[in-house]
Amino acid sequence: MLRRQFLSGLALAPLAAGALGSGLAAGWPAARAQDSPIFFRIGTGSTAGTYFPVGGLIASAISHPPGSRPCDSGGSCGVPGLIAVVQSTEGSVYNVQAVAKGQLESALSQADVAYWAYHGEGPFAEQPPLSNLRAIANLYPESVQLVASVASGVRSVADLADKRVSIDLDGSGTQIDAKLILKAWGLTPEDLDVRTVSANEAVEQLREGELDAFFYVAGTPTTAIEALARDTSIRLVPIDGEPAERLLEDYPFFARGFIAAGLYRSVPSTVTLSVGAQWICSAEIDEALIYEVTTALWHENTRRLLDAGHQKGRLIAYGTALNSLGIPLHRGALRYYRERRVIVPDVLEPPTP
Ligand code: GLU
Repeated sequence: MLRRQFLSGLALAPLAAGALGSGLAAGWPAARAQDSPIFFRIGTGSTAGTYFPVGGLIASAISHPPGSRPCDSGGSCGVPGLIAVVQSTEGSVYNVQAVAKGQLESALSQADVAYWAYHGEGPFAEQPPLSNLRAIANLYPESVQLVASVASGVRSVADLADKRVSIDLDGSGTQIDAKLILKAWGLTPEDLDVRTVSANEAVEQLREGELDAFFYVAGTPTTAIEALARDTSIRLVPIDGEPAERLLEDYPFFARGFIAAGLYRSVPSTVTLSVGAQWICSAEIDEALIYEVTTALWHENTRRLLDAGHQKGRLIAYGTALNSLGIPLHRGALRYYRERRVIVPDVLEPPTP
């Protein structure tokens, strides 16, 4: 049922009023004409995660401040006049809301969160749909990571009952998926001694023995977990078996994933679920600007930056740019893909204003 909606049903609701009233990129064509810089924010997540470093790579790739060395003589090949900056945030839920309100020009978000926010479903059922959300590209898979200290004795999701467990901050996408996973195992947050601390804090508390486990949905290797595994005995809890199969059936955004042995020190290969990380913006951002931003993302020089910068950067590929998008493309991005003869499914066409 959800799968069918995901593929076909684009609810057409009026665009959020006043979006981007204060967005810096709103002045794009004028700034361009005057050759003055324009700032373009990319909302990410905690500095403990993967959005933050990958967002930084993308920011470098699309920036080309006035006076930069030209692209064809060794300079960056970003959008002329653009200065992109990453902003650390609570995560996907915060990001979709900030993008819809024009408080961020763009952001990274989990595919499931963007879909639910756009349609006003699931965790967003109580609020009007954020129908001005648009996609620029699908980026890379994020893994559902449930990290437990060996000392906690936690070996399965069911073992979390009565344990001290962080499900990440309100505003994170991690918290949304953590609740889905608990539910699939017949648990509610009330069954645990639940904490809602940031990933940075969760790592610190687990190291100090003040926390038994924490969820973190992020591209691997995740910086903070890598550091934790170097000085603390941790276990990655598998998300598998019948409850995981049911989640895969019910939620088209989830795919099977696994974390390779040794990716984190002394941690064996672990089966889990994954969800796409996507780059989104609002419909109100200028079409020409997003066209150029998309062009810069897929410029051949960007490949080198992404490959050298992070393991997940290597997975950001033109060939998977439209995979598992649950919201329509921005008009500027659509134009870019169409011009390159990419077959864009109807469902990804933005509604006509
Ligand atoms: N997926 C996480 C969230 O939306 C953020 C992961 C990251 O920062 O890499 O909460």
